[in-house]
Amino acid sequence: MANWCVINCSNSYYKLQRWMQSFCEVHNSTKEHCSCQKPFDLLPFPNEKQADTRKTWIRNVNRNDSQNVWIPKSHSRICTVHFADGKPTLKNPYPTLVVGHNDLKTARKPSQNRKKHRYFKNSGPGHHSS
Ligand SMILES: [Zn+2]
Ligand SMILES: [Zn+2]
Repeated sequence: MANWCVINCSNSYYKLQRWMQSFCEVHNSTKEHCSCQKPFDLLPFPNEKQADTRKTWIRNVNRNDSQNVWIPKSHSRICTVHFADGKPTLKNPYPTLVVGHNDLKTARKPSQNRKKHRYFKNSGPGHHSS
């Protein structure tokens, strides 16, 4: 089986391979050999030595409503799109943009249709009483 990312994420090693083998018209070579930035990278989970980090990753990746706690296998990967900085950094070492929680789809809604609250004031603007 392909190394899938977390639940609901369609990124996989297979997808990355496909991208690598696709042709880059900018650099006139396959993307494997050009300097284009990968759309994502697949990272292994932290090992047991980094128990705390590992725990947080697992917690973030798991679905809220999951009954069984999911444990990453040795081949389990998470892609870098789930990190706020595009990769684990000191500031954002954990996957926070995790699709496993099922709410990413709704989170992508444009916030345009948010209703504006209007306040009708009785006193006109620029009215000063001193
Ligand atoms: Zn390129
Ligand atoms: Zn992913």
